[in-house]
Amino acid sequence: MLLHLEDINKSYIQGKMDVPVLHDINLDIEEGEYVAIMGPSGSGKSTLMNIIGCLDKPTSGSYVLDGNEVANMKDKELSIVRNKCIGFVFQNFNLLPRQSALQNVELPLQYANVPRRLRKNLCVEALTSVALEERMSFKPTQLSGGQKQRVAIARAMVNSPKILLADEPTGALDSKSGIQVMGLFERLHNEGVTIVMITHAREIAEYADRIITIFDGRITSDEINKNKVVVKHSDNTSEVNAAQG
Ligand code: ADP
Ligand code: MG
Repeated sequence: MLLHLEDINKSYIQGKMDVPVLHDINLDIEEGEYVAIMGPSGSGKSTLMNIIGCLDKPTSGSYVLDGNEVANMKDKELSIVRNKCIGFVFQNFNLLPRQSALQNVELPLQYANVPRRLRKNLCVEALTSVALEERMSFKPTQLSGGQKQRVAIARAMVNSPKILLADEPTGALDSKSGIQVMGLFERLHNEGVTIVMITHAREIAEYADRIITIFDGRITSDEINKNKVVVKHSDNTSEVNAAQG
């Protein structure tokens, strides 16, 4: 099992109050799965994503990620596991505004101390795989929303992590750009990447193979998606190319 969460609880301290947000979350995800975690605003999705992504720790419970018990790990060790295992994509892209697309994609390689001469090639490859080879020197302000999200996907994947963890990856995009992003996710899934995508929208969750529903901090259903939507490759490339022009 790539991810194993057992009896995970999370509360936030607010003033003198302990506010529980996640209750007894039990969840297993195998390598290569494409999972959507769906629930309304305030249901605890981002809290769960932060725990899955080792950006925050549970209040109690066990979390084994790729063979490492991370629930009580020290921050420094945790960041090593995180950087090795997980690529992140966020709703608002989280790109550094003053840096070019190439420099943004290079960041995880710098953190991982990849030698400079190898970094450029890996970045070019990652940006080419999202059809942005002609925009590598562009700054975020010179890119459309969809292009920014593709830079973020290239950055998330440049280190070849096993898991792509995405929080509302299409939330800030028009529907065409959103479909392109879903096309890229489908391709990464076919290449064997484990995808965990958080969304409040059923139409986005339906791109995944398995849909987990969360409500008030509890998992209320966990099912194979019988209505899986697959972006046709031709649609995807023609739209990626159209957005390039
Ligand atoms: P979602 O992503 O599904 O909208 P969140 O995980 O962001 O849900 O939030 C779940 C609940 O936890 C909300 O009631 C929110 O107000 C609360 N919450 C989230 N982050 C914090 C925090 N850092 N401190 C206190 N409460 C928080
Ligand atoms: Mg959220």
